[in-house]
Amino acid sequence: MDVSPSPESEPAAPEPAPIAAAEPAEPHAPHVVKVLVNACVDFRFADALVDWLRAQGLHGAYDLRTHEGAALAVDRWLESDVVLNRLHDVEAIWIVDHADCGAYRLAGEPNTRENHVMHLKAARARVQAWVGKPVRIFYHPLGPDGRGASTVEEITP
Ligand SMILES: [Zn+2]
Repeated sequence: MDVSPSPESEPAAPEPAPIAAAEPAEPHAPHVVKVLVNACVDFRFADALVDWLRAQGLHGAYDLRTHEGAALAVDRWLESDVVLNRLHDVEAIWIVDHADCGAYRLAGEPNTRENHVMHLKAARARVQAWVGKPVRIFYHPLGPDGRGASTVEEITP
């Protein structure tokens, strides 16, 4: 008589070894958003901007809000910044304009660095008044390949 092995008699399959975590587990690490970044949507600048933000030590620590024209459109995203600050209690707000912005062109605004700086300063004043957090402003030039340069210039004061 043929006796098949009963399933119960088979050795249990070994449990898979736990995969070691790449980084120490911090299930209760505080939720930290250091900076709320307001920038233009332009695809030519997005990758370079994110690379540069990470290079500033902000990897995983920024909100990125985009609106075509950035500083030029401050009144369209100001209330959104107020809400995001309420949600995340950000330490600071950054505004980033870029060279050759199509939203400036469509609005009949000169795409000069000088005009971007003027709108950046006006937007900084608006955001500071509404949100009450430190605001820093930046100008992202074109790089030699026709995309966003690897370095973003801060406008001071
Ligand atoms: Zn743009």
